[in-house]
Amino acid sequence: MIVSKQKPFTEILATLEPVSRIFLIGCAKCATVCKSGGEEQLWQMQEDLTAAGKEVTGSLVIDEACHMLRVQRDLRSKGEQVKNAEALLVLACGAGVQSVSTASDRLTVAGLDTLFLGNIRRFGQFEQRCSLCGHCILNETGGICPVTICPKGLLNGPCGGMDEGKCEVNPEAECAWCQIYQRLHDRGEQAPLSAANPPRDFSRNLRPGSLKLEK
Ligand code: SF4
Ligand code: SF4
Repeated sequence: MIVSKQKPFTEILATLEPVSRIFLIGCAKCATVCKSGGEEQLWQMQEDLTAAGKEVTGSLVIDEACHMLRVQRDLRSKGEQVKNAEALLVLACGAGVQSVSTASDRLTVAGLDTLFLGNIRRFGQFEQRCSLCGHCILNETGGICPVTICPKGLLNGPCGGMDEGKCEVNPEAECAWCQIYQRLHDRGEQAPLSAANPPRDFSRNLRPGSLKLEK
């Protein structure tokens, strides 16, 4: 899931300074799980904006704010409330904000900072395990991603700073490459370590990414 957190309210308010009527949009998927843009956060935002002298013309939690057609359809269903607003404040990830800005001619304001693709360890605790690099090497690294978990993103490690299995960048954390070595060793699978991982082919994750599934 996409992990996000709300921008400081003062920052949101400063961006909304030129407008007085605002329509609020949240996302029922990732932003709800992160408690950054679900029903509860929309109600709180409405209260805070009202206390700051703004008028909230309405609100909407879209099932998946990254779904562009759904955003168009759901915004249409809120016709007058959206028309009466000078700005749309979106509490969803950056993809959701851009679905909204594509679907509307109103000023669209991002209310969240989008952080990373996260695994959920337990409710309210998220960890980055994959950086969406476009060329997965987990099969060579025992299922541990050095691109993400090693702060230097080393494809071949460990670096010279590793100390008794700990990472030199964050001494609280295990060195990713020590974990990889240990896991492969425990499984009796050291073969993947006998060859160096080749340099990245960055053409495999050129941006912007797109994918069209065959029918
Ligand atoms: S190598 Fe790491 S960052 Fe790249 S796709 Fe695999 S898990 Fe994600
Ligand atoms: S100690 Fe290990 S995890 Fe830390 S930067 Fe060096 S190789 Fe990466």
